[in-house]
Amino acid sequence: MIHFDNSYARLPQGFFARVAPTPVAEPRLLALNEGLARRLGLDPDWLSGPEGVAMLAGNAVPNGAEPIAQAYAGHQFGGFVPQLGDGRAVLLGEVVAPDGARFDIQLKGSGPTPFSRRGDGRAWMGPVLREYIVSEFMHAMGVPTTRALAAVATGETVWRESGLPGAVLTRVASSHIRVGTFQYFAVRGQEEALAALTDHVIARHYPTANGPLSLLDHVVARQAETIAQWMALGFIHGVMNTDNMAVSGETIDYGPCAFMDAYHPDTVFSSIDRAGRYAWAQQPQVAVWNLAQLATCLIPLMGERDAAIEAATKSVHSFAPLYQAAWKRRFGEKLGLTEAADVQPLAERLLTMMAQQQADFTRVFAGLLDGRARDEFIDRDAFDAWAQDWQALDPDPDLMRHANPLRIPRNHRVEEAIAAAVADDPGPFRRLFDAVTHPREERAEWDDLGSAPRDEQVVRQTFCGT
Ligand code: AMP
Ligand code: MG
Repeated sequence: MIHFDNSYARLPQGFFARVAPTPVAEPRLLALNEGLARRLGLDPDWLSGPEGVAMLAGNAVPNGAEPIAQAYAGHQFGGFVPQLGDGRAVLLGEVVAPDGARFDIQLKGSGPTPFSRRGDGRAWMGPVLREYIVSEFMHAMGVPTTRALAAVATGETVWRESGLPGAVLTRVASSHIRVGTFQYFAVRGQEEALAALTDHVIARHYPTANGPLSLLDHVVARQAETIAQWMALGFIHGVMNTDNMAVSGETIDYGPCAFMDAYHPDTVFSSIDRAGRYAWAQQPQVAVWNLAQLATCLIPLMGERDAAIEAATKSVHSFAPLYQAAWKRRFGEKLGLTEAADVQPLAERLLTMMAQQQADFTRVFAGLLDGRARDEFIDRDAFDAWAQDWQALDPDPDLMRHANPLRIPRNHRVEEAIAAAVADDPGPFRRLFDAVTHPREERAEWDDLGSAPRDEQVVRQTFCGT
């Protein structure tokens, strides 16, 4: 039924462990992304039938799949861990879509693997539904991201602080290769494996790159674009460890991620990020730090050492101007401005006011065209003065409508939807999903989902995706 072509599983042995998903008691389809299924050339009716659901739950391995857990390492909050790897996920295999694009089909929460360490290999419904909604919203806004094909309830209990209903997410990505995948081989001094990985990534993601330095340049450029898009949506990834940064440039591993309601650059949600390492405003610097780790891995492949170090350093430093340009383009679109010189001073003035007055990030930008943005400010005169200067530049409304979502997956709404799903009511999840995957569509029935949380609804902390 599905035609697999598993290029990663053809790499040398040390890249992965062959391991099948562990069957679950009572699989039940919670959500199927029919649009994505069709985009992949898969039949939604088959996927939602008994054979499809058995595959999505990990109860049956379809013909042609070669399930593996991928090996990787990574810096977690700056501390290096030489072996992480897929501890609760298996890559079923790769499919080539009708348009020729190649995608990983991965089950997340599919049981233990040789990389599980002390974990149970499982996920509960909360993080599965959160990733499902948030990643599909990101896709709807044009942000490079892994995607969600399906969520299946397992009928089993997962034990965290308490017993919670288990679930499996089917994640789709152009690959799951991370900065940490390179680190895994670099720290072991396995240059042949590093070279094979480099060739694989070039062939798969950057066919115009002509060697490791050029690959690094491409990854740096791609990440600069992606991070600028996060910033423009008020998105906080929450765990930008090197094992959670894909070399494809796709946003990956939605754990304690969250969107800001009230704007402040120092916002952090993750319960484990006590020092604010991954705060909203830190994300570009952290990306550079992570890319420097990738550069370190590639240097041994780049010929004479001093020259290699110099070239790799230069490549990593190219992030700053690329990111600045992308930031100006993205915030320019939000303000309807195309002249880069105009954007920075106006955007910064607006953001400073927003931070001082705790204005809602999404509502301010979505409300600029119809004037409702003014309501988000306490000091209306200051806003009016800004708005006058902005209007004088003749902003383009179409650019703004495209760049500024009317609705985002707000934390309190996501939590509400998860609580209802856990209590066997899928309605709020489906409604929120529809609303945030049509983020630019004005519809009265979704108006409430565009509202900022009331004080008692504000979510101040989010938890890891396990
Ligand atoms: P994360 O912080 O979610 O990116 O995960 C970091 C590492 O922990 C990865 O190697 C995961 O595979 C592993 N991990 C996270 N949760 C579990 C779990 N429930 N069981 C096994 N391994 C896990
Ligand atoms: Mg991870």
